[in-house]
Amino acid sequence: MKKHNFYAGPSILSQYTIKNTAEAVIDFANTGLSILEISHRSKEFQAVIDEASALVKELLEVPEGYSVLFLGGGASLQFCMVPFNLLAKKAAYLETGTWAVNAIKEARIFGEVDVVASSKDANFTYIPKGFVVPADVDYFHYTSNNTIYGTEIRRDPDVPVRMVADMSSDIFSRPIDVAKYDVIYAGAQKNLAPAGVTIAIVRDDAMGHVDRLIPTMLDYRTHIKKGSMFNTPPVLPIFSALQTLRYYKELGGVKELERRDLEKAHKLYDAIDDSRMFVGTVTDPADRSIMNVCFVMKPEYKDLEKDFVDFCSTKGIVGIKGHRSVGGFRASLYNALPMESVDVLIDAMKEFQANH
Ligand SMILES: *Cc1c(COP(=O)(O)O)cnc(C)c1O
Repeated sequence: MKKHNFYAGPSILSQYTIKNTAEAVIDFANTGLSILEISHRSKEFQAVIDEASALVKELLEVPEGYSVLFLGGGASLQFCMVPFNLLAKKAAYLETGTWAVNAIKEARIFGEVDVVASSKDANFTYIPKGFVVPADVDYFHYTSNNTIYGTEIRRDPDVPVRMVADMSSDIFSRPIDVAKYDVIYAGAQKNLAPAGVTIAIVRDDAMGHVDRLIPTMLDYRTHIKKGSMFNTPPVLPIFSALQTLRYYKELGGVKELERRDLEKAHKLYDAIDDSRMFVGTVTDPADRSIMNVCFVMKPEYKDLEKDFVDFCSTKGIVGIKGHRSVGGFRASLYNALPMESVDVLIDAMKEFQANH
């Protein structure tokens, strides 16, 4: 049976990415060697990382003065690398979910943290508005897409200080005004590649303004200087990332990806809003994520939630169960998910509703 993959991460990748990765595991770039067994210093792999970096710059229109890095340690390591490199005294953070909470916890190791606003009071089901970022902080950090709660900030904020964003789960789903940022980071396993690599787009001259000693591997300048080759980078995920980036370019770039993502998300949110059985957990349409659509059953149907997950699996729908801190369902509609899968899910919702 054809599978419809709604997992939140690691998550669906394009068939183009998976097939080319599988081929390279057998024979990489006609070397007669597997991508798994070739030196990261070989000219063939250097070409991979160079092209991947150039494509990130091209797709996101990264201006001069920035470096694209391919790092290990996941987005979670960036929670500490950012303050290690940028927090001299005080930073401002927006608290919009679990990942933001984790980032705040790490930042507190390095200095004072001003939580400028939080949506914790309503289990992170909305994006706080009207908050002020003070001008005396070293930087402002926010999470652009809250993967667990299904809220998203789709416009690059204007703040009077350096800006850092965790874009792990919505990078490449819209054009970004990179010039507004000093660091953008994203674990690859949501919208780009298998787990194991994290992209960081860093403004070179934002580094070097803190006094503390920074361990070599945690200093962005190490990786800027060495082109992500200070040590062995995650070779296979970088290869896969390149395939996805080529695929994104071929499709028409981030504007076209955004058009498709909006179409998919609107269709599913409309189906949820129109149903008598399901209800979205994020009520303000302006705050709704186009990557992770969270919904539950209305109170009178609540005990059918498990049955619906089972029903979905009979239709080939996988990964639909909501995160344990929200419950219900979460449909992740990353770039590689086709509209066909959204249609299958909507049909399943309608059929299940008709039967109950
Ligand atoms: C998944 C996720 C993370 C955690 O990523 P790891 O690579 O597992 O550390 C952080 N932030 C956001 C927004 C995420 O979606």
